[in-house]
Amino acid sequence: MLDNYGRQITYLRLSVTDLCNLRCLYCMPAHGIEKLPHSAILTLEEIEEIVGAAVRCGIRKIRLTGGEPLVRRGIIDICRRISAIDGVEELCMTTNAVLLPRYARDLREAGVSRLNISLDTLRPERFAQISRIGTFADVQAGLAAARETGFDRIKINCVLMGGVNDDEIRDFVELTRNEKIGVRFIELMPIGECADWDRERFLPGSVVLERVPELKPWGDDGVSVLYKLEGGMGTVGLINPVSSHFCPTCNRIRVTSDGKLKPCLHSAGEINLKGLHGEELYQTMRKAIAEKPRRHHIAEDGKSASLRNMNAIGG
Ligand code: SAM
Ligand code: SF4
Repeated sequence: MLDNYGRQITYLRLSVTDLCNLRCLYCMPAHGIEKLPHSAILTLEEIEEIVGAAVRCGIRKIRLTGGEPLVRRGIIDICRRISAIDGVEELCMTTNAVLLPRYARDLREAGVSRLNISLDTLRPERFAQISRIGTFADVQAGLAAARETGFDRIKINCVLMGGVNDDEIRDFVELTRNEKIGVRFIELMPIGECADWDRERFLPGSVVLERVPELKPWGDDGVSVLYKLEGGMGTVGLINPVSSHFCPTCNRIRVTSDGKLKPCLHSAGEINLKGLHGEELYQTMRKAIAEKPRRHHIAEDGKSASLRNMNAIGG
């Protein structure tokens, strides 16, 4: 359906947990988060009903996210049930890859067609620092499992952080030379844990083109502006939510693991869906989609207006 600004809303990012097996500096507090009571989290049946209502509203693509979606108990069942819903054309997942050796095959069989893998460094020591409790070898094993299982068009999402990983821009770009992979650099957004970080940590995506000037424009895919190395097999994408927000073409809504619909990532507005069923659920979603805010204001305000950390939204 169209929202009040004429945007066709077709994409739902659904967070299935706010828990995670990593503690990335910019996303999660060092000590982790308090577990929500079981009763506060959407059940498998509630998730299924919400996706059904979303499809009635015109949603066609679902992305499962978190926290880390693979730590949610019953994640394979969730995938199976969602992919079986009539009208769901694409089921994808964003993951830190740590648990992919265990789950990659089951995910494919359960109808997940594409994976985005978050990876901010290719250096093991740095990975330990950024993720606080993670091991680079686990992510490598996860990536290998995804490839072996036959996931193609894998995308690697790298959050750019000045003075943290910007010296690896060229190394990430080089990954696209001999493999049909999409590497996407995402501007760090001032939200939650990193909202008050020093300004020099926040780099515009254009820094990628300054560091690797031989990148050639290759169109865009809606969210990211694409580039390629001469003769390269993969693509390099720039996702610039801060320096050039894509609100005018935003086609997405979000649902958190406790059942709040967020029409805009960076506004405080949340609409409760938990406990709603049938027509009431559908009409509530329709209204929320129609009233999706026109744009966010992080560039002017210097901070997101969202009340949640990213682990509780899903990116
Ligand atoms: N745990 C999964 C993962 O890391 O892929 C899924 C959830 S995570 C919140 C989704 C994405 O949001 C990740 O790619 C992460 O790097 C990104 N993210 C988290 N905080 C961010 C921030 N402040 N700015 C930009 N991206 C952020
Ligand atoms: Fe976990 Fe993903 Fe947040 Fe890292 S970015 S702490 S992996 S939810």
